[in-house]
Amino acid sequence: MDILVVLEDNRGSLHRMSKEAIAGAQKMGGSISALAIGVNADAMAGELSDVDITEVITINHDFVSSYNADGYSDVVSQVIKSESPKTIVAGHSYQTRDFMPRVSAKLDIPFIPDIISMDDGIVKQVLNAKLNALVTTSADQVILSFQSATFSEEAMVTGSCLTRSIEVNLDSSIVRSEAEEPFQEDAGDVDLESAELIVSIGRGIEKEENIQIAFDLAKALGAEVSASRPVVDSGWVEPFRQIGSSGQNVSPKLYFSLGISGAIQHVVGMKGSKNIIAINKDPDAPIFEIADYAVVGDVLEIVPKLIEALNN
Ligand SMILES: Cc1cc2nc3c(=O)[nH]c(=O)nc-3n(C[C@H](O)[C@H](O)[C@H](O)COP(=O)(O)OP(=O)(O)OC[C@H]3O[C@@H](n4cnc5c(N)ncnc54)[C@H](O)[C@@H]3O)c2cc1C
Repeated sequence: MDILVVLEDNRGSLHRMSKEAIAGAQKMGGSISALAIGVNADAMAGELSDVDITEVITINHDFVSSYNADGYSDVVSQVIKSESPKTIVAGHSYQTRDFMPRVSAKLDIPFIPDIISMDDGIVKQVLNAKLNALVTTSADQVILSFQSATFSEEAMVTGSCLTRSIEVNLDSSIVRSEAEEPFQEDAGDVDLESAELIVSIGRGIEKEENIQIAFDLAKALGAEVSASRPVVDSGWVEPFRQIGSSGQNVSPKLYFSLGISGAIQHVVGMKGSKNIIAINKDPDAPIFEIADYAVVGDVLEIVPKLIEALNN
């Protein structure tokens, strides 16, 4: 086995970042196995039945029926020891950040987290995303995690794959913690994850009274409204609208960014968007580095005119 992809259960279905990790593994090349753990392991394997990988290994044991860091790190370590993959990959999710460092420490395998590209070697951001670093390793085995949207789930190559169920020995003394139900922000009636058009508000909107123009633009476009963290922290919009590392991950057909600077903590939540239009007064705003259409100007002047034009 060349690559082992550790999958993540997202309330009974495969996490989007696990699909991205499979697309990444396929791009890297070699024989690929995926590992599904827990009560939904078979359901996750089912979702991959038409994907071009060698196999999905499923494990369901009472002590890892749902996620807990002690059990997962032990199970993943056991599989790595018995299957000897050269590379272990996963999405860089909160769950991966929780248990993967333990696997790395247990097995003494280097862990290179939060990778943004594999095109010309392993690339990750450093110094609060101000620089990209090319990372190399001389170790025989390595663990990698991919930042959200580094690969597109739509790039997964279809084919067929087998399912293999394996038994693990887990001692109850190992599992010292128990995970509660995953936290989910009250989403109201808004489903940002499946929204095709999103208008997103940043601090450039300047004050609460101006928020309405973003909602008016969203209405004219038939879009949902999201926001950066400072806008949420100011109480101008509800917390479930926050996009970014401590909010939601979205990948709409169009992400319309109004007065958002493009800090890395925001960008990780929206860089998978198919098209990005950004309006910002500052021509050097980092959001323009990932925008497909960059509009240098004042949102408070441009947006009302745009709404008028759309409504006409
Ligand atoms: C642990 C941690 C987690 C975080 N999680 C998140 C997260 O999940 N989501 C998130 O968004 N942030 C998050 N942040 C905060 C993040 O670092 C940034 O501070 C935040 O994204 C900035 O929001 P902003 O772009 O709206 O505001 P600013 O960075 O203040 O940018 C405002 C932008 O608006 C432009 N502007 C100003 N006036 C106008 C105008 N009239 N017209 C046009 N443009 C204008 C400015 O040029 C500027 O580029 C997190 C930070 C930390 C430390």
